Amino acid sequence: ITQLYAPLNWFGTYYRVIQRNFVDMENMLALFTEHIEVQDAEDAKDLQIKNGTVSFSNISFAYDPRQPVLRDISFTIPGGSTVAIVGPSGGGKSTLFRLLFRFYDLQQGCITVDGQDIRDVRQRQLRQAIGVVPQDTVLFNDDILYNIRYGKVSATDEEVYEAAKAAQIHDKILHFPDGYGTKVGERGLRLSGGEKQRVAIARTILKNPPIVLLDEATSALDTHTERNIQSELRTVTKNRTTMIIAHRLSTIVHADLILVMQEGQIVERGSHAELMRRGTRWRPMPPPPPPPHLLPNPREVMEVML
Ligand code: ATP
Repeated sequence: ITQLYAPLNWFGTYYRVIQRNFVDMENMLALFTEHIEVQDAEDAKDLQIKNGTVSFSNISFAYDPRQPVLRDISFTIPGGSTVAIVGPSGGGKSTLFRLLFRFYDLQQGCITVDGQDIRDVRQRQLRQAIGVVPQDTVLFNDDILYNIRYGKVSATDEEVYEAAKAAQIHDKILHFPDGYGTKVGERGLRLSGGEKQRVAIARTILKNPPIVLLDEATSALDTHTERNIQSELRTVTKNRTTMIIAHRLSTIVHADLILVMQEGQIVERGSHAELMRRGTRWRPMPPPPPPPHLLPNPREVMEVML
């Protein structure tokens, strides 16, 4: 009888693996909207992380050769520091993330991590070194334990709890109907925007990457959530090389370097104080009037005034 069932078991196991990979891919698609496979070089080397310095040198890139998206972009993020990228929609901010993640190869220029061209290292190790906190986190139709552990599949339950504590979501989870066994996602408990971001933060804390890419939420989180999430975001970016697509004034003020991107070029760069002193075209905008059901929202949204 066992013999008879063996092939079925085998199929079951592999089906789950395949299914999981599809879900992973779905997650990636959601993070980056599209996914083109780039191959490892035949002699791809191990990525050696020292302090996680990331450098973009003379990058030009187009998804379609007829339409350049990035033109001659150069900047360096010293290991452990934070760059905030601001600018109007379509300026190429997310494209920088996709290129560092090596979803596409460059047409011109190079990106290095601690001096190693990302085309020369193993893709898996490159992606292992980068944590992503997207605007809208994808949850799997599984329990919350699984969803957080996704950041590091080998993590113990204890490690998951610690990460959830650091992301300030542990106590909330204990109040869910089945605690860490509570099903979330489309077919389970629907988490709020702030809770989903905390799941992404907890995953990243578990993953413990030297580099973090953060796409700050533009959607109106309520003021309370908003203020709270700031400290968790600081926990996850602390001592890590960080690139943030930023919308909040507080994020921008704390960044070591701000890049203003417009139509694929860096049109201004410097610290917040430098940009203010120089009289930037870019300035904080007052928040839009709050929807009537929300309390007045002091959130400040950054926009480029051109
Ligand atoms: P937003 O703030 O709206 O997210 P962004 O600054 O992040 O914008 P990108 O997403 O990097 O901008 O897009 C830059 C340009 O590249 C846009 O004109 C966009 O339409 C184009 N683009 C993005 N992805 C693709 C793609 N897969 N194929 C072709 N063009 C694309």
